[in-house]
Amino acid sequence: MEIALLGSGSQGNSVLVRSADSVLLIDAGLSAKETTARLAKVGVSPSELLGIVLTHEHSDHIRGVGPMARRWGLPVWTNEGTLEAGKASLGALPHWGAVEIGVPFEIGDIWLEPFSIPHDAADPFGLTVKSSQGYHVGIATDMGFVTQLVRSRLAGIQGLVLEFNHDLPMLLDGPYPWPIKQRIRGKLGHLNNRDAAGLLGEVASPDLEWVICAHMSQENNEKEIIVHEARGALAGASSLLSRPSMALLHVASQLEPTPLFGSAGQFSFGQDNGEDQP
Ligand SMILES: [Zn+2]
Ligand SMILES: [Zn+2]
Repeated sequence: MEIALLGSGSQGNSVLVRSADSVLLIDAGLSAKETTARLAKVGVSPSELLGIVLTHEHSDHIRGVGPMARRWGLPVWTNEGTLEAGKASLGALPHWGAVEIGVPFEIGDIWLEPFSIPHDAADPFGLTVKSSQGYHVGIATDMGFVTQLVRSRLAGIQGLVLEFNHDLPMLLDGPYPWPIKQRIRGKLGHLNNRDAAGLLGEVASPDLEWVICAHMSQENNEKEIIVHEARGALAGASSLLSRPSMALLHVASQLEPTPLFGSAGQFSFGQDNGEDQP
């Protein structure tokens, strides 16, 4: 199984998951045109997609879902709360696959387990995805804080897509109006670097092969700070492990897809972005 982020940040998020037999998207927050163009960059045609999973109704996750679903006849898997809250943006869908948080479901040979996350949307969820070979990846963005449930769902994973949204001092000193700062840093907002690194340190095991740092704020964060925090977390975890964590690190961009990450953390597309080697 391989994972790539087609884009990540407040302008649009979309995660490609590809197994031996199945290809799907988790969120499609870029336009349909842009989603299609970025799929081409990772060598995937939209006609291969089995569907789109929608984690919540915010525009940076939902924008391209309705258009992609109609254009390619794709089912959209989401829960009732998100479907209802997102109906104006989604429009008429060819097919709805009902998701219930806490209840695993299958798309092709990919096993998905949705779990609740604290975020200011109707009924948002993160996911773990597992291939039929047992390769296990966690996807957790758009979280105000780290819950015990999130920690437990991410235990033992081999790949991790984790939100590193903002650097708290940069957010507090930055240009945003106070109510927006409060929303971002609030319990239903977005995860700051320090909390993300704390979670990473807790779930990093010798089995963890790669980490994609996601949903980075353009205004209130810097790649160098994320890498520093994440690397510190991995080093801290390694000192407590029998085998050190050799996880590769990648910071996802808003503007272009990440490489495909899969077993053993090997890139199967493109180049790393310069700070991946442990
Ligand atoms: Zn988002
Ligand atoms: Zn959101």
